[in-house]
Amino acid sequence: MSHWSRTFTFLDGQWHEGNVPIMGVRTHAAWLGTSVFDGARAFEGVTPDLAQHCARVNRSAVAMGLKPVVSVEQWVELTHAGLKHFAPDAALYIRPMYWAEFPGARTVDADPESTRWCLSLYEAGMPDPARGTSITLSRFRRPTIECAVTDAKAGCLYPNNARALAEAHARGFENAALCDMLGNVAELATANVFIVKNGVALTPAANGTFLAGITRTRTLELLRAGGVEVVETALTWRDFLEADEAFSTGNYSKVSPITRIEERDLQPGPVYRRARELYWDFAHS
Ligand code: PMP
Repeated sequence: MSHWSRTFTFLDGQWHEGNVPIMGVRTHAAWLGTSVFDGARAFEGVTPDLAQHCARVNRSAVAMGLKPVVSVEQWVELTHAGLKHFAPDAALYIRPMYWAEFPGARTVDADPESTRWCLSLYEAGMPDPARGTSITLSRFRRPTIECAVTDAKAGCLYPNNARALAEAHARGFENAALCDMLGNVAELATANVFIVKNGVALTPAANGTFLAGITRTRTLELLRAGGVEVVETALTWRDFLEADEAFSTGNYSKVSPITRIEERDLQPGPVYRRARELYWDFAHS
C-alpha cells in the first residue's frame, strides 16, 4: 500500500485510511463498469466549485441509471470533515463516487436500488505550470451520446481516453487532443482546451460528446468578466496548429499552458496568464 499517497475514504458510515477495498468479485460495477465519479480539489486551503462537482456526480449517477443517494450538502459536509485528516494547505484530489452493487432483472443492467457510494480524499500535488504540456492529435474520437454515456463522468469512458494518451506518449507528447465524430476538436484526454487567436479565446462548443468541464465554464466566465472575448465554436485541428496560444482547463491542474502542438513550440501567452490569475483570485475569494 506504500505506493499510494495518503488517502482517506468515507465508506459505509466511517472513515478508512489507505486503499480500502470497495468491491467484490460479484459487484456489478467491477464486472460491467457501472460506476461514476467526480474530481474536485483542495489546495492552498481552498476547494473551488466543490458543490458543483458534487452536484455533477449526482447528475452522472442518474445518467448511468444509478440512484444518487447522497445530497450535495452531505457530500460537501463530508468533504470538509475528511479534510481534517490532512494539513490545512494540503493539495488533494477529492473523489465522490457511486457504483452499482447488484445486477438488475436482465443482468447486464444494474439495480439502481443497489447503488453504493464512497468519498475518497488523497494527496496529489498541483502540477507545476512552468512545465507546460505538449499535445498531439489522436486518431481516436469522442463517442456521441448514442454510443456511450457521454452525459456522465463515468469510469467506462476513460479507457478510450487512455488509449489516446498511450498513443500520444509513444509519439513523445504528454497529452492527446480528441475530435468528435464530426472531426472537430472536442477536448484533451484529461482536460478541456482553449486556443487564442488575435487576442480572442476560443474553445470547442459543448455538443454533448465531451465533458464540458466545471473549470472550463468557470474560466470562460472569469475571462469574459475580465474583458476578454471568449467564443465557443467548432474548432478544427488546423485552428490549433495556427493558434497564438493554447491552454487547458480541468480540475486536476486548473489552468495550464500548452507549450507544444505537434512540432510547433508555443510560449505561455497573456490570455493564459490572465486566465490563471483570474482563476486563482476566484479560488481564494
Ligand atoms: N475532460 C476530461 C476527459 C476530463 O477528465 C476532465 C477532468 N475532470 C475535464 C474534461 C475537465 O473537467 P472539470 O473542469 O470539470 O474537471
